[in-house]
Formats: sequence, structure tokens, C-alpha cells
Amino acid sequence: MQDIIFVSHCVLNIASKVVMYNEAEMAAEEDLRRRFVSKAVSQGVQLVQLPCPEFIMYGSRRWGHVSEQFDTPYFRSQCRKLLEDYMLQIKEYLSNDRFRILGIVGIDGSPSCGVDYTCYGTWGGNLSDRDDLKDCIATSRLGSGKGVLMDEFSKLLKEQGVDVPMVGLFADEPEKIMALLEK
Ligand code: SF4
Repeated sequence: MQDIIFVSHCVLNIASKVVMYNEAEMAAEEDLRRRFVSKAVSQGVQLVQLPCPEFIMYGSRRWGHVSEQFDTPYFRSQCRKLLEDYMLQIKEYLSNDRFRILGIVGIDGSPSCGVDYTCYGTWGGNLSDRDDLKDCIATSRLGSGKGVLMDEFSKLLKEQGVDVPMVGLFADEPEKIMALLEK
């Protein structure tokens, strides 16, 4: 039996992530990412890399965003398109007893790939002429809910009757993704 996990793009390629200037803040997530990937590879679990919608649509110089900014009909429709072929791959693996899909791993806190948590805030407008930029940025908060890509992914799974667990990589709750490798 070949075990497979579908993972958010940056689980395998952090070059896709928005530039973070506080490395200490990211250290715990990076540590968990490395532990998870190392263990998966050493156990022979295959990792299928999902597309990064933010890198594809906004590139490497993008600002950080909150989920409301990506929650548009167009962004949602593009996420669906990006996921269509992955839905077909999931169905093909599920149709063959040689394979077992252990789950889908997102990135909690991401406006696109959050599973249990995403980030909310009243961000927007022209940065250069806002006097209240710091106050605006400070409205950002972590809250329950999915990022836009994972929200569309979970809808596609439901619509097509596919039952695969979805969990988020989150440094404060490391047990969630590590448990996938205990199955
Ligand atoms: S959009 Fe998703 S895959 Fe891309 S960097 Fe953000 S969390 Fe990672």
C-alpha cells in the first residue's frame, strides 16, 4: 500500500511564500514543516504538491493579505480551476487499492490555504496615502475558518462525494499534521 498526502505548495517550497521579515515568528512553523516533511519522506509517504494561488496570481513581490481581500468571485473561480486536475488525481488514487490518501495538508493562518484558521482584517486601499496604516494593519487577526483555496477545495470534495481529511500545519497545534503520519 502506497500512502499519499496532498500538501499545500509551500510545505515543499517555501520560496512561494510572501516575504516575512520576522524570522523568529516563522521559526516554529518552519521547524514543524521540516519535521513533518522529514518524517513523511523517511516513512515513504508520497507528497503531492498543490498549486500556490497567491504566487501564481500575485507573484513573488506580493504584499501579505487577509482573507477578505482574496474572497472575490474571480479568485474563488481561479482556485477551483487550479484544483480541478487535483480532484481527478485524488479520485484516481482512491479508485485503486494500491493507494491510500492519508489527507490534505494546508497552512493554518493563510488567507488561501488555512484549514482551521485563516486571517481576517479590514485591509485595503492605497498604502502610500493612509495616515492610519499601522492601525489598519493591526486589525489583522487569526480566526476560525478556511482560506479561500481550501474553502473551495472542501466544497469540491463535498460536491463530488470525496471523503479525505483536511488538516492545517499550525505551529501551536503540531499534533494535527503529525497525526496523519501515525495512521
Ligand atoms: S498561498 Fe498557500 S501555498 Fe501559497 S504560500 Fe500561501 S499558504 Fe503557501
